[in-house]
Amino acid sequence: MAKKQFKTESKRLLDLMINSIYTNREIFLRELISNASDALDKRHFLSLTDKDYRYDKLEILLEPDGVNRTLTITDNGVGMSREEMEKNLGTIAHSGSEEFRRKYEDSSTADIIGQFGVGFYSSFMVADKVVVESKTANQPASRWVSNGQDGYTIEDCDKEDIGTRITLYLREDNDEVKYSDYTDRYKIHELVRKYSDYVRYPIMMETEKSVPKPDSDGEYETVLEMTTLNSMVPLWKRNRKDITEDDYNNFYSSKYYDWEKPLKTVHYSMEGNVSYTALLYIPSRLPYNFYSKDYEAGLQLYSKGVFIMEHAKDLLPDYYSFVRGLVDSDDVSLNISREILQQDSQLQSLRKSITRKIKSTLVDMMIKEREQYEKFYRTFGNSLKYGVYQNYGANKEELQDLLMFYSSKEDKYVTLKEYKERMKPQQNEIYYCTGESIDKIKKLPQIETLLDKGFEILYCIDEIDEFTLMMMHDYDGKQFKSAQKADALNESEEEKKQKEELQKGNEGLLQKMASALSDKVKEVRISSRLKNNPVCLVADEGISLEMEKYLSQLPGEQKAKATKILEINPNHDIFKVLQNVYEKSPDEIDEYADLLYQQAMLIEGFTLDDPVDFSNRICRLMKKANEQAGH
Ligand code: ADP
Ligand code: MG
Repeated sequence: MAKKQFKTESKRLLDLMINSIYTNREIFLRELISNASDALDKRHFLSLTDKDYRYDKLEILLEPDGVNRTLTITDNGVGMSREEMEKNLGTIAHSGSEEFRRKYEDSSTADIIGQFGVGFYSSFMVADKVVVESKTANQPASRWVSNGQDGYTIEDCDKEDIGTRITLYLREDNDEVKYSDYTDRYKIHELVRKYSDYVRYPIMMETEKSVPKPDSDGEYETVLEMTTLNSMVPLWKRNRKDITEDDYNNFYSSKYYDWEKPLKTVHYSMEGNVSYTALLYIPSRLPYNFYSKDYEAGLQLYSKGVFIMEHAKDLLPDYYSFVRGLVDSDDVSLNISREILQQDSQLQSLRKSITRKIKSTLVDMMIKEREQYEKFYRTFGNSLKYGVYQNYGANKEELQDLLMFYSSKEDKYVTLKEYKERMKPQQNEIYYCTGESIDKIKKLPQIETLLDKGFEILYCIDEIDEFTLMMMHDYDGKQFKSAQKADALNESEEEKKQKEELQKGNEGLLQKMASALSDKVKEVRISSRLKNNPVCLVADEGISLEMEKYLSQLPGEQKAKATKILEINPNHDIFKVLQNVYEKSPDEIDEYADLLYQQAMLIEGFTLDDPVDFSNRICRLMKKANEQAGH
């Protein structure tokens, strides 16, 4: 019998696939079962109009044979004629295979192939001889045989029933791979459950069962019993009305090993540009490895109930990487030859649609279940804030209305929209203040007057907050403004005039203080933002006080610092003390300036460069006070 050659491109691809790239051999079974399932679909379709294709029961049968080292996959689907076998099995990946080969021949990401369908030829990853016997309704049966290397033979054969029977002659075991595993019934059962659980037709195999031995007491024996390996109807394909909350939660915990109930479950189907069903979960708590590189984001991807990949990263934007779940789409191809994942426009549409759904779910939760949303936000809010910061704020529009910050006015988390709606008529900016904790921020001197005047301030306690707000620049036309920065805050004309007069009248004192602190601050000046505190620090343009603290924790030598300005409260007793000292013994001003500066640093949460010096200065002051009191 003459051997027919594979097309050259097919052969090169084959070599590549079999010998190098495939680390994920086991998916061959998924591929063959999926082909069988397609063939069953086709037969069912034909049976509607052609009585020759009628059937009793459509099914797939797996028969492992450990002795002969074979695995046989039989279906009673549509079958193939001789011509169809030549056409379908003689060419690999009809379309696009050349492009595929070019991409992967010199690529280290070859592994990715394991996540796609490569179809029938994947059988050669485990077998060195494959026999396909097939029969259609109105043609004689044919047998196709190949070793996957140098072509194939095709001949007539005896086969009564319509359908296809594929026998894999497994390769010899070697040090790396135990191909004989694929005759192990447990192993096969496991693979079917992993990859093909939701195939709509029963996948049958004889499995070992332990049963009581007849006519004996208590003794058991192992028998083979025909078993359906797959559960056939996946949870997400069942009618929503028939699914209980428990069903959803159990599915979640068994799949994601999280025993806490998910905060939100979203199960929906979409028809349109790309049709799909998705089952998405928002966890209640942070996955333990969420911030490590071990955390694998992405949704599970199925095509017509056939598992394709575990973590399809491209289905979710980074900022929603906390969402878990799966997507099942009829429009996603199992076959690698069409397109690879990132470039697949179907997947792009999927991603868009899923992203939109997650957003609307979150918005809905924010409006209707505020407490739930706050819980969510406390857990995953940083992902959203980081999402705004990333890519130079490209996702600002998408995410800004999902953000929340702690409000001085409400004593709880509020949205930017809520803040904006409450702004006073004379207010043009959104005020915020950063610090380590809400309690610490509440006591910051810089916001005394602002609070006193009844303005609302957003308290930011996460490191990312200020970076996010600066990246956003404004919300709906209202700029963000830090209460800890040099610009005056909502100062009236009168306040401004008063301040300038005081500034002029105390020029000498302020300059003397400034030169005492010349290596620490840029300026010492009269403040309009203080009420009960004597002094505070504010930052000039650029790096903020909070950022300086953050940057100081990072590794490296050179650390950028905020340009600081020391502001003095002209209504505070200490100011009169300073004026007095300046008048009577101006040289002592240096000591006072230093102390006040160090106090301001402490209030702001900085650590002092020289705490011993600070302590000594206070002691000197105490001693002097005691002497002056005449003791
Ligand atoms: P794909 O399934 O993406 O078309 P495959 O390489 O898996 O690519 O299969 C190639 C073709 O071989 C199928 O399209 C189908 O026409 C045919 N085929 C494979 N397996 C079977 C089967 N069990 N029954 C009938 N036809 C089959
Ligand atoms: Mg296929």
